[in-house]
Amino acid sequence: MPDYQCHHCNVALSNTQYARSHYCEKGACQRAKVRKYLVAKKQRLSEQLNTQIQDFTQSAATNDLPSRLVIDIENITPVVALLPANTNILEDSNPERKQMFLHHLSAIYEDSKENNSQGSEVYCETLLPPTPEKEAELIGKACATCMGNCCNLGKTHAFLDYPSLKHILSLQSAALTENELLTLYSEHFPDQSYEYSCVFLGKNGCTLPRDLRSFTCNNYLCDEIANYRIALSQADSDLTFAAAIHNDTIVHSSVFDEDSFIRVVEK
Ligand SMILES: [Zn+2]
Repeated sequence: MPDYQCHHCNVALSNTQYARSHYCEKGACQRAKVRKYLVAKKQRLSEQLNTQIQDFTQSAATNDLPSRLVIDIENITPVVALLPANTNILEDSNPERKQMFLHHLSAIYEDSKENNSQGSEVYCETLLPPTPEKEAELIGKACATCMGNCCNLGKTHAFLDYPSLKHILSLQSAALTENELLTLYSEHFPDQSYEYSCVFLGKNGCTLPRDLRSFTCNNYLCDEIANYRIALSQADSDLTFAAAIHNDTIVHSSVFDEDSFIRVVEK
């Protein structure tokens, strides 16, 4: 047996090669190396999160925490959700960015009146059926932990497009004029929003009611939330330890179940 072998395919490696990497140069072996790294990273972050939450539970005045949650934390293996973090800075909402949104909304309103479906970019054609209530509640809490990493993409358009606006207008009890529509949306701007992110992303998440949000926003689940959803469906309990990660570090964390939501770390 050679002194040094590739950890994936067992091919012999020279002393120098092995010192550089425990995997040979073959594509499959390099991919195995990355997989191993990701699994180890996930394991490390999950352990850190677990310690953080156990410490928090023991240090917080137990009266402050819902008793069922405390009992569950001690006795149940939680579902772990590792999510990307929104790390943008919260600032007073920028009037120029709000104006850009209203300008965008005006343009789509005009398109909707003229049935001009090609007038501006379409982000999503259809609205998916809503997620069952309990699942939506838990997913919402996971998103609240991340604080809207994917919302960064909403910028000053909030993904509102022709199909979304047609649908939103059709839900109104009476036809809206352009001014009424602009006023309706203006009423929902947060006082403070995240720099560079969606104009409607405030401290506590999206400030638009669900029926004024775009199809994209109502449909979208990031990969990590999609994984969380699968993990939930396979778990016996909905107790969740969630962490939002940036640069391999936990930035925000929370513990929750269907009935409670407790922020553990918020940076
Ligand atoms: Zn190899």
